[in-house]
Amino acid sequence: MKTKDKKHIVVLGGGFAGVESVFRLRKLGHKVTLVSDRDYCFVYPISIWVPVRKINFDDVKLPLADLQKVHKFNLIIDKVKSIVSKENKVILANQTIEYDYLIVAFGGSKLPHPGLEHTFSICGKPEQSLKIRDKFDELLKRGHGKIAVGFGGNPKSPTGVRGGPAFELLFNFISTLKQKKLYDKFEITFFAPMKEPGARMGGEGLKMLDKAYKRHEVNERIGIKIKRFEY
Ligand SMILES: Cc1cc2nc3c(=O)[nH]c(=O)nc-3n(C[C@H](O)[C@H](O)[C@H](O)COP(=O)(O)OP(=O)(O)OC[C@H]3O[C@@H](n4cnc5c(N)ncnc54)[C@H](O)[C@@H]3O)c2cc1C
Repeated sequence: MKTKDKKHIVVLGGGFAGVESVFRLRKLGHKVTLVSDRDYCFVYPISIWVPVRKINFDDVKLPLADLQKVHKFNLIIDKVKSIVSKENKVILANQTIEYDYLIVAFGGSKLPHPGLEHTFSICGKPEQSLKIRDKFDELLKRGHGKIAVGFGGNPKSPTGVRGGPAFELLFNFISTLKQKKLYDKFEITFFAPMKEPGARMGGEGLKMLDKAYKRHEVNERIGIKIKRFEY
């Protein structure tokens, strides 16, 4: 594609991938339309502070309209229903748009483990961080409880695991409970099916994690396949 090509590029998805694509394409001078069913880009990495009330949910949202003002792209807030590639069309809930080139950046989702509906995920929809916060508030009010944090992975693609958010959330819970002098009233468990969760951080990282589990008396359920979640 030539740099000054004036063809219409449609980007589906207003997360990091979609927004970054829009910025790059606009810098190259293209006509770009961003379609997102959320009117904000959710800054997932800082959402780990929502459940422990160190940041407000609204502060994790980057309004797409603000980005539009700076980068001058077309913005459509609507849900994509289907893509008709033979006709270069995208069917949205409220309109149909045409494109010359299409970028699909819808993000990922988890395989539906049985019972997943009984869990909350900091990597899920943005509102999940609020649900975790409300549930954690309930436990704090009650003054005792059990919290299990963990992650899964694909045994066929061990390098594809991203456990960082789970570790960050786990240690945020631990430090909040300690600050509130409630830690001895809670049972904390960390679970993961692989033998060395966090291996991507390297040997030193693994040793530090192990020390932290022991120091905070975290129950470890490691190397055991997740079958289902029950409640
Ligand atoms: C707690 C946490 C910490 C993290 N820390 C880091 C880090 O330090 N470094 C790092 O590189 N990564 C980190 N990540 C991962 C990173 O946040 C994700 O990889 C990134 O957000 C994925 O961006 P995305 O644009 O692909 O998807 P998403 O952010 O999921 O965006 C998808 C977009 O598509 C839209 N969409 C979906 N379906 C439709 C539809 N049908 N119609 C219209 N729009 C639709 C959604 O509304 C959304 O705007 C972290 C993640 C979490 C949860």
